[in-house]
Amino acid sequence: MIRSHPDSVNAGGEDAGVNPMWIDSHCHLDAPEFGADRDAVWQRARAAGVAIAVLPAVQAAHFEGVRELAHRHGLAYALGIHPLCVDAAAEGDLDVLRDALVRHRDDKRLVAVGEIGLDWFVPGLDRDKQERFYIAQLKLARDAGLPAILHVRRSADGLLAGLRRIDSAGGIAHAFNGSTQQALAFAARGWRLGFGGAMTFERARRIRELAATLPETVPVLETDAPDIPPQWLYRNAEQRAHGEFARNEPAELPRIARTLAQLRGWSIEQTAVRTTANAGAALPRLQALLRPPA
Ligand SMILES: [Zn+2]
Repeated sequence: MIRSHPDSVNAGGEDAGVNPMWIDSHCHLDAPEFGADRDAVWQRARAAGVAIAVLPAVQAAHFEGVRELAHRHGLAYALGIHPLCVDAAAEGDLDVLRDALVRHRDDKRLVAVGEIGLDWFVPGLDRDKQERFYIAQLKLARDAGLPAILHVRRSADGLLAGLRRIDSAGGIAHAFNGSTQQALAFAARGWRLGFGGAMTFERARRIRELAATLPETVPVLETDAPDIPPQWLYRNAEQRAHGEFARNEPAELPRIARTLAQLRGWSIEQTAVRTTANAGAALPRLQALLRPPA
């Protein structure tokens, strides 16, 4: 016997050992955009080789729905209040989060606190309230012993300031768009950075440069579906004016991964193995969910 991977042939007869396994580390499968065909969307992703996705909640009212969706499809999830949802959030929502983290502490599919963070791009938001919710949720993650999933938009320095104040178990700064210096500051604290559809645009020079050059232990792959459509799904302003809107979905992940492979000079297999290892290192409970098929 020279076969080194006894689990490489699954019951369906497909040779799973040669098909790379992908992780979508950030996917809003619970979003209303998937209301009509949610189950089919995930089946397509499975068929494309996406083994698992992490579903980050964005507001307290969605916590149980996201959890149920993750369990229904064998996925992972995170609980948190998104910075763009903070304005509408009640102060008591932080207690709802604390209670949910306690109630589900033994749920192996609960892998992080998220999506939390700061958005300094969208005008008119209550910045003080965002800061307060960010710090409070970092503390809840620390108390729960969970990593976090961060939303970063023009806010990397603010996020890093919070990480200097509050001990954390690390995690993923998703759809990363900061500078090299900021990226390395996250990496130095053990954080991984998420890359997705934005990296597929040639004009996204800075993001592509980061994806190409950061230490190999840093990048993880994500779609952020239904948002951040890759270049091949992009609709320009004129098309959008005619009512054409692109919807990103987790089945796009393997094709997005090809961009990372090209940028880094990695083989597809190397890209899958490396980004899977990075996501598992960032979210240890996710790693435990990635058992080989029986
Ligand atoms: Zn998100």
